[in-house]
Amino acid sequence: MSGPVVELREVRKEYPGDVTALDGVTLTVETGELAAIVGPSGSGKSTLLHLIGTLDRPSDGTVRIEGRDVSSLPDRRLSALRARRIGFVFQQFHLAAGVSALDNVADGLLYAGVPPAERRRRARLALERVGLAHRLGHRPHQLSGGEKQRVAIARAVIGEPALLLADEPTGALDTASGAGVIDLLRELADGGTTVIVITHDRDIAATLPRQIRMLDGRVVQDDARAEAAR
Ligand code: ADP
Repeated sequence: MSGPVVELREVRKEYPGDVTALDGVTLTVETGELAAIVGPSGSGKSTLLHLIGTLDRPSDGTVRIEGRDVSSLPDRRLSALRARRIGFVFQQFHLAAGVSALDNVADGLLYAGVPPAERRRRARLALERVGLAHRLGHRPHQLSGGEKQRVAIARAVIGEPALLLADEPTGALDTASGAGVIDLLRELADGGTTVIVITHDRDIAATLPRQIRMLDGRVVQDDARAEAAR
């Protein structure tokens, strides 16, 4: 594939009650980039991530994912695009309680038409990739916060999405576990997955190759550094 993974042009998002959550956002993210979205609460970060994740459509402007205009796709095609090309990670992990790490990750392929044995084989590989080969049978309550987030990341990338979207993935973790999760995201980006992460943590954001700073629904700063343009 050529061209940017994510391309937003003059995107506006209005909510009922006269709320302008996004006020003309233009943004391009290339394959293999690792970008942080930063900014104060209410600045539009989550709305932006939702639109990039095709969970919602813009009120105006265009959102393109791998060249496809989100507004022009019917719901079914949009769901398929989301299921196959986009992975999500959340602050609170959202793992199924009482279900082993292996099956939590395998469930990431539930809607991809992959037979159960193959799902579990690939889940094992995904867990090895995130450093959890020794925790396959552990259930969420038996895992540390950092380990839970690694399981969630393995589940998000098992289908090999082009794009991984993470909303405050280190928000519930101590500093060391958080740093480990960020290292993992960095490895995924080095492997060609495009990673976009919302973070409140300035120290973490400062270590990432690109920071997109939001304020009042606009991008007020976007310092793609040399590393991002490699
Ligand atoms: P952030 O993630 O930076 O905290 P959000 O994208 O969640 O910001 O919110 C941006 C603005 O849009 C805020 O003023 C928020 O109150 C408003 N907002 C977000 N979601 C909704 C919604 N579903 N309905 C109405 N207003 C919303």
